[in-house]
Amino acid sequence: MTQLIYLNNMYKKEFDAKITDIIDEKFVILDKTCFYPNSGGVECDFGKIISDSGLVYKVIFVKKSNGEIIHEIETDKTCELKKGNIVHGIIDWERRYKLMKYHTSAHVLSAVFAKEAKALITGNSLNVNKGRIDFSVEDFDKEQMQNYIDIANKIIEQNLEVKVYNLTRNEVEQNSALCKLAKGLPPNLDILRIVDIDGYDAQPDGGAHVKSLSEVGKINFLKAENKGAKNRRVYYELIEN
Ligand SMILES: [Zn+2]
Repeated sequence: MTQLIYLNNMYKKEFDAKITDIIDEKFVILDKTCFYPNSGGVECDFGKIISDSGLVYKVIFVKKSNGEIIHEIETDKTCELKKGNIVHGIIDWERRYKLMKYHTSAHVLSAVFAKEAKALITGNSLNVNKGRIDFSVEDFDKEQMQNYIDIANKIIEQNLEVKVYNLTRNEVEQNSALCKLAKGLPPNLDILRIVDIDGYDAQPDGGAHVKSLSEVGKINFLKAENKGAKNRRVYYELIEN
């Protein structure tokens, strides 16, 4: 199992690690990594892996498979990386920091939909340019959307701290406020990592977030769509304050 450095240190941009496996000369598995994989509707990190002899390999995709993080490297040259080598990893911080802002903003907006519209969040898709949140609610008034965005921006303006800590599954199950996702808690996890936007929203989450809402910027509403009887979809972008 790859040790996921980003779970406890989301601002770490570089790291040293050992190659535990390499498949087809382009899929690199490390004993630990800062690279966030494509998951939870959030796009993966890009960056590079540098060999101890100084050769640079671009990381073009990162995914999770059976508890391991697979770093796909660009294959325009012969891969000289070998199992057991120590390498240096560097993530594309500009990209990652944007994804962190989008991820935290999505939690704020989802919490507003849950609280104000009693909506269940059914999915999200976040990249460096825009966010999309899907939710399920019976009655939905499109004109209300700007109102929800305004509420979310008011929360962001409070510069709340974003805390990360662990709770047991039992503790989470006894706290209804922690179980908002339509699909429920992830199975087979006894300890759950909680992302807690101080006093406003807390939920189990394995992603990378900013440490304060002061870093998010402002949510700008793009459009809303109805996707069937109960399913709604909203698009937004983050702009600088
Ligand atoms: Zn999340």
